[in-house]
Amino acid sequence: MKQRVALLGSTGSIGEQTLDVVRRRSDMFEVAVLTAGRNWRRLAEQAVEFGPDAVVIADEGRYGELRDALAGYPVKVYAGAAAIEQVARGGSSDVVVNALVGYAGMMPSLAAVGSGKKLALANKESLVIAGRQIIESATRNGASILPIDSEHSAVFQSMVGEPSPVRRLILTASGGPFLRTSAEELEHVTVEQALRHPNWSMGAKITVDSSTLVNKGFEVIEAHWLFGIPADRIDVLVHPQSVVHSMVEFEDGAIKAQLGTPDMRLPIQYALTFPVRMELGGERFDFGKVPTFTFEEVDGDRFPALGIAYECLRRGGTAPCVMNAANEAAVAAFLGGRIGYKDIVRMIERALERAPFVSDPSVEDYARLDGEVRRMVEAWI
Ligand code: NDP
Repeated sequence: MKQRVALLGSTGSIGEQTLDVVRRRSDMFEVAVLTAGRNWRRLAEQAVEFGPDAVVIADEGRYGELRDALAGYPVKVYAGAAAIEQVARGGSSDVVVNALVGYAGMMPSLAAVGSGKKLALANKESLVIAGRQIIESATRNGASILPIDSEHSAVFQSMVGEPSPVRRLILTASGGPFLRTSAEELEHVTVEQALRHPNWSMGAKITVDSSTLVNKGFEVIEAHWLFGIPADRIDVLVHPQSVVHSMVEFEDGAIKAQLGTPDMRLPIQYALTFPVRMELGGERFDFGKVPTFTFEEVDGDRFPALGIAYECLRRGGTAPCVMNAANEAAVAAFLGGRIGYKDIVRMIERALERAPFVSDPSVEDYARLDGEVRRMVEAWI
């Protein structure tokens, strides 16, 4: 039987790469649902190619155009955030691939695990904001969560078949485009420079997050929730070659790693086919071309966001939610040319100082705070 895939965020970087995996293995997968934010044209093209039961466009203002583009095709057309949540929860899918970006992914993640579905998770923000609720709900409802983020997939792959406890996780970081940029020069970084990632081609928001190391901070929080490891046993090492995707150290001192060329289709496919591995195509890693691997500590003075994320994880409650909301608002403002590059982390610090703190928050608290913090950051801008 084919695995039926509900793909949330199909028009994005992870979404398109997921469709590439599905396209190559049409004997194994079929598409049940596709969703996009605003890009109705691409969503319509994808719907014509893959023939899902339903498509959803988050922006209700684009509903008419999408419906007209798909008139005559046997596909249901919906609009709005609530409809995305609905298709994540219901329908005939076996697996929900959450490739949404930002806060918008949280409720669909909760909906998928709440209905006991397999969740292939790229949207790390879900776990950053609501890790406790998502993991508890997945456990309660027998849902499995398979990581798509390459670092977490590497950790997961290193843990398969290991019944013994883990001593330490070592997440690798490329260091981004500003690895060797001085603190002074960082003040004048342009949008174009921030969008030039050395090793990975990704959506704009995560590319900026990678350059500030907010992304790596979020990955520490994501790893904590996925693998149940406390903050002080999750390390980060800069590895500019991006070949060692992450590592796990066990009780006896053995360290296992997963290596390969940077290609997100591998963790996407592994999340869908686990525990089986399949031919993927594409470039294979050649030790002759990259004979040297280097590792170094993160410079916390130039990249304070990583330390802030650790602090948020230790504080718990709504701290990671506030960090995420401030970051989303600030990154959007930076991409729009409204604030400078280093203002992103300044906004995060300020939001964490000023936003109310709830130690045992509900999902409603996250929604309220997310809005409040975005308004706060807008007012500062
Ligand atoms: P993109 O920005 O490329 O794509 C985001 C997708 O979400 C698009 O389909 C977009 O639709 C849709 N979307 C955006 N805003 C909303 C909204 N408010 N409501 C509903 N849908 C929305 O992001 P990426 O693919 O780069 O990243 C997706 C997630 O995966 C992120 O959480 C990221 O951190 C994570 N990730 C990404 C990696 C990568 O290589 N790209 C690697 C590891 C993790 P539209 O096109 O219409 O705007």
